[in-house]
Amino acid sequence: MSEPILSIKNLHMKYGSNEVLKGIDLEIKNGEIVILMGASGSGKSTLLRCINHLEKTTEGTMTICGRTINLHKWKKDDIAFTRNNTSMVFQNYNLFLHKTALENVMEGLTQVKRIPKNEAYEIACHYLEKTGMLEFKDHYPSMMSGGQQQRVGIARSLAMRPQIIMFDEPTAALDPELVGEILNLMKQVAKEGITMIVVTHQVSFARDVADTIAILDKGVISDIGDAESIINNPDNPNTRRFLNLLDY
Ligand code: ADP
Ligand code: MG
Repeated sequence: MSEPILSIKNLHMKYGSNEVLKGIDLEIKNGEIVILMGASGSGKSTLLRCINHLEKTTEGTMTICGRTINLHKWKKDDIAFTRNNTSMVFQNYNLFLHKTALENVMEGLTQVKRIPKNEAYEIACHYLEKTGMLEFKDHYPSMMSGGQQQRVGIARSLAMRPQIIMFDEPTAALDPELVGEILNLMKQVAKEGITMIVVTHQVSFARDVADTIAILDKGVISDIGDAESIINNPDNPNTRRFLNLLDY
């Protein structure tokens, strides 16, 4: 871990007149694993979506992989740069239903990165193997369990070789018996040194892998620190109240 790879200052975001993010400051070092927690509706998904401009920010600045972006006025190049350096794993997998596992992983490689098909095929197979899904490469999402679909979602994200990978409640839609295998896969990814931002309420996972845990409350980061200070010995009354509501 060294230089900050992502530095967010005073990020604001509104849905219409409803200000959802009210001045987020967050600095993440290269290789850092950051877990974001917080009540439903506190703005976790929105924050991830603002980082790669899936939602429009209204104020602030962000420096990502060496490029500084005015969050009030994104340039076309800023969006392309940011999306080239980040990728997202979604709660509901977001796979193309009419494409196979292999085609889902190849899509971004050929369409966004413009990698030739044969090379994209090799890269996709590599990441499907890594996530334990190579033998299912010709399966459509409807033929896969939730856990298998999420493995493909993770393979698809990794195949883009992002600098920063973001996970938005990646196990929240899974049957309970499938949660562990996805968390284990994410632990394996974390060991490779990629920078990760993970929204999850899996407390023991957070305790195991997080360098930093940030608690979001009504659009602001109300508490931030390592697992020891946030989960094991929380000082902040809000954090305590929130953790008490989680079943772990
Ligand atoms: P979280 O992921 O922490 O549960 P979200 O980021 O999804 O929270 O939502 C934060 C707030 O923004 C909530 O009040 C939610 O109702 C609102 N919100 C989320 N998505 C939209 C949308 N597409 N349009 C309007 N309001 C939204
Ligand atoms: Mg959410």
